[in-house]
Amino acid sequence: MRMARIRPVLVVHGGAGNHRYNEDGCSAAARRGLERLRAGEDALAAAVAAVVAMEDDPRFNAGTGAMLRSDGATIETDASVMDSSGRLGAVCCLRDVRNPVLVARQVVETPHWMLAGPGAVDFARAQGFGPHRLEPAADALPPGAAGEPAPAGRHETDTVGAVVLDGRGLFAVASSTGGSAPAMVGRVGDTPIPGCGYWAGPHGAVAATGVGEQIVARLLARVVYEWIERGMPLQQALERGVALFPASCAVGLIGVTRHEAAAASNREMPFHVLCDDEGAGD
Ligand code: ASP
Repeated sequence: MRMARIRPVLVVHGGAGNHRYNEDGCSAAARRGLERLRAGEDALAAAVAAVVAMEDDPRFNAGTGAMLRSDGATIETDASVMDSSGRLGAVCCLRDVRNPVLVARQVVETPHWMLAGPGAVDFARAQGFGPHRLEPAADALPPGAAGEPAPAGRHETDTVGAVVLDGRGLFAVASSTGGSAPAMVGRVGDTPIPGCGYWAGPHGAVAATGVGEQIVARLLARVVYEWIERGMPLQQALERGVALFPASCAVGLIGVTRHEAAAASNREMPFHVLCDDEGAGD
């Protein structure tokens, strides 16, 4: 009997509240992930590669483009990876690392799921990452700009994330952020917390963006995943997830299932869906 071919697909977002005109960064990142799939690597490698591309793009609040904390001097980053085989890794309050998602990926190889603060930095250095001084983006929010309109080109939330289905049926998610602004030094949002900013399981993968404090309070990614698991169409599940939030609270979601790829947000949100029509990777 001939097995049905799985068509690999990637969805990449550049943050709820970012501009759609930054969508070229999402499509470039998705292509980077697709290259990994076509080279025979798996969904996790593809998701990480896509997020690395976004971390290297200063238009997004992750890695190179990460925002300052409210002391006006500190940059701290959070990142996470997860796949449907059970691999899970995260870092939070990481400093002076160019690509936090690569450190999160290495955490998978330890007995732990998350490393935080100075321990995460020590681990990153031991793994050969940095030190790389992250310079605040020229148009990053000034300290204490709570509630003020964001400067042109940058917004309070621009986390990046990628979800991937590969040709073998593995689902993966990777995310990275400089946090939301303004935020205290040491603040951790949803991005590194499983079930909140991300989830991957045998039915799909989900990544969230928006106000982390509100996302954590709703266990957003896990709740949306459970709707998918019970058979709700992906687009409907993502929109229902967004509808859990008041209009005043920025939120966005991307997801993939075996046959669907979608995004939803209550703000402008750059994203890109890329299907591998060659069916490579299986
Ligand atoms: N969710 C991120 C956080 O709260 C921010 C974002 O999505 O842009 O850290």
